[in-house]
Amino acid sequence: MAVRKILLLGNPELLRTCTEVQQHELNLVKPVIRDLFDTMAQFQADHGWGRAIAAPQIGEHRRIVCMRVDKEIAMINPVVSHHSKDRITVWEDCMSFPDLLVKLSNPRRCRLSYRDEHWQEHIVELEDDYAQLLQHEVDHLDGVLAVQRAIDGQSFALRQTMPDKNLQLSGYFREITERIS
Ligand SMILES: [Zn+2]
Repeated sequence: MAVRKILLLGNPELLRTCTEVQQHELNLVKPVIRDLFDTMAQFQADHGWGRAIAAPQIGEHRRIVCMRVDKEIAMINPVVSHHSKDRITVWEDCMSFPDLLVKLSNPRRCRLSYRDEHWQEHIVELEDDYAQLLQHEVDHLDGVLAVQRAIDGQSFALRQTMPDKNLQLSGYFREITERIS
C-alpha cells in the first residue's frame, strides 16, 4: 500500500493513548496494517534493523502492532499479562529514535493476547527478546516510550557506540494452544 512517515521522538502524537479496534472495523484497519508492514520493510532496508512497529508511530491511534520475524504477524488489541517476577536489563532501540539506545529493566517473560486480521484470538508466551520487543510495542499503544522507562540518567547511549546490538533474537514466541485461565 504505502510507506508512511515514522513519527519521531518529540512529536506529541506519540504520547497519545490508542483506542481499541472493534470487529466491524476490521476492513478499515487492514490498509493500516499493510502500511505498517510496508513502512517497517522500508525502515529495515534503510537501517538494517527494526522487527516491530506500532500504529501510533505512523500517526494511527489504534491498538495495532505488526511484527516481522521469519513471518509477518499483525496483532490487534494486544494485551500483555502474567509478567514474570524476574527481570532483565536491556538496551532498547526504537524506530522513533533510531540513533538512541535506552537501558531499561523489564519482566523477562510475559504473556500476550491479541486478535489477528481474521479476528481470531491468540495467546502467546514470550521470553527474553520477544518479551522485550512486545512490551515495548504495547507501551507505544499507551503513549509510553522507552525513554520514559529509562533506569536512570546514565541509561542513554548513541547506537554508534554499540555497533553489534541486537543481531540475533533470543527467547521464544510460543503460541498456547490450550487456554490456561
Ligand atoms: Zn518503539
